[in-house]
Amino acid sequence: MSAHVHCPYCSVGQETAEYSDYRPFYVNCSDCTRRFIVEPVRNGVVVYRDGEAPCCSDPECRETEMGDSGQD
Ligand SMILES: [Zn+2]
Repeated sequence: MSAHVHCPYCSVGQETAEYSDYRPFYVNCSDCTRRFIVEPVRNGVVVYRDGEAPCCSDPECRETEMGDSGQD
């Protein structure tokens, strides 16, 4: 699946890449090229600015703090 999201910096709408689980991932805005975080949730997705997500919703923080290698 994929989701339609709005960039938290410039508000441009765009489609995310395909995803298959609820692991948060980074998106580079198609317009301003800044990086933000998309976290799939049950009813859609949540968007965070890079650095503003709680650790469990931050791909890099998960990797460092929770040993989440990105592999299942
Ligand atoms: Zn943008």
